[in-house]
Amino acid sequence: MLGRWGANARGVGDDCAVLSVPAGERLCVSTDSSVENVHFRRGWLTPEEIGYRAAAAAMSDLAAMGAAPLGMLLAISVPPAWRGDLEAIADGVGALAAASDAPVLGGDTTAGAELSLTVTVLGSAQRPLMRGGARPGDTVWVTGALGGALAALRAFERGESPAPWARERFSRPVPRVREGRWLRLQGATAAVDVSDGLVADVSHVAAASDVRIVLDLDRVPTLGGMDPRDAARSGEEYELALTARELDGERFAGAFGVPLTAIGEVLDGGEPGVETRFRGDRVDLPPGHDHFSP
Ligand SMILES: [Mg+2]
Repeated sequence: MLGRWGANARGVGDDCAVLSVPAGERLCVSTDSSVENVHFRRGWLTPEEIGYRAAAAAMSDLAAMGAAPLGMLLAISVPPAWRGDLEAIADGVGALAAASDAPVLGGDTTAGAELSLTVTVLGSAQRPLMRGGARPGDTVWVTGALGGALAALRAFERGESPAPWARERFSRPVPRVREGRWLRLQGATAAVDVSDGLVADVSHVAAASDVRIVLDLDRVPTLGGMDPRDAARSGEEYELALTARELDGERFAGAFGVPLTAIGEVLDGGEPGVETRFRGDRVDLPPGHDHFSP
């Protein structure tokens, strides 16, 4: 794997990786596991995509904090049936490491009954963007367009091939790392990455910030004509949902080539939590995304 990574691995070979955090910044750390038959099935994704996606899912948490990546660690358990795919898996991890400017700093490889990748990401920021900073009067925003991951999952579960745009969103999600830093510097007050589903993740912000949030689902950008009520439950999107008093969506779209859309408001008073509206009526969505059962 080290041979495949080349310059995308750094400082590997000692008992620990040693790194410096820029002066005045705080260390942000997160870990995320991708397990065969829980997060993906063999045959849905290529080994390269499995590696890429596992690293992207972890990196997305640094994006949500507005942190700059310092590097990542990979712990992988490999069953005999996957041993021949290790180099391709490494290539996928390496591609995400290069795209995020986050070298592989170390890790661990063991034998196991199922393929499992655990990626730990390290980053830093002067004032990391937390979930608890939303204030009444803020607007709620989302990056990109939602629904692709769910469309792909539905096709896979029917035994069909997803449409290319949906497959791309499932297999190669783009962690919004540069976008997250920009949003933090532009005054975002709270952020979360969309891993459980938009409504579920914005609920985490409402709870942490102790505020009431109203989401207008008609405004949620969706892919492939998906009903926004479905797109709002689509998990593993790895877009960012955030709150801010004021943001320039057009400047954002110009800088990053993805939309930034206002989809709701943080309100004063009432019970903390998220209310969803669709075509003017209040709607209650069933609980968000859950990983499919093996
Ligand atoms: Mg997250």
